[in-house]
Amino acid sequence: MTQYTETNGAVEELETPYELTALDRCDACGAQAYIRVVVGTGELLFCAHHGRKHQEKLSQIAHSWHDESSRLNDRP
Ligand SMILES: [Zn+2]
Repeated sequence: MTQYTETNGAVEELETPYELTALDRCDACGAQAYIRVVVGTGELLFCAHHGRKHQEKLSQIAHSWHDESSRLNDRP
């Protein structure tokens, strides 16, 4: 019987520092996501605006809070 690794990808995600790209979109408005929140049921992506808006509520249940919104400051 051939053995397959079922955790492909999930393991990768843990080992690779996560970086948000232009393809990641805010779950609330569809703008480019700069904040990634891992909660018990999965992960949520937010733009800087909605990340701040939901931060107070979500930070209580978030397993991890990945914020790249500081990259916005690099823009002119
Ligand atoms: Zn948004």
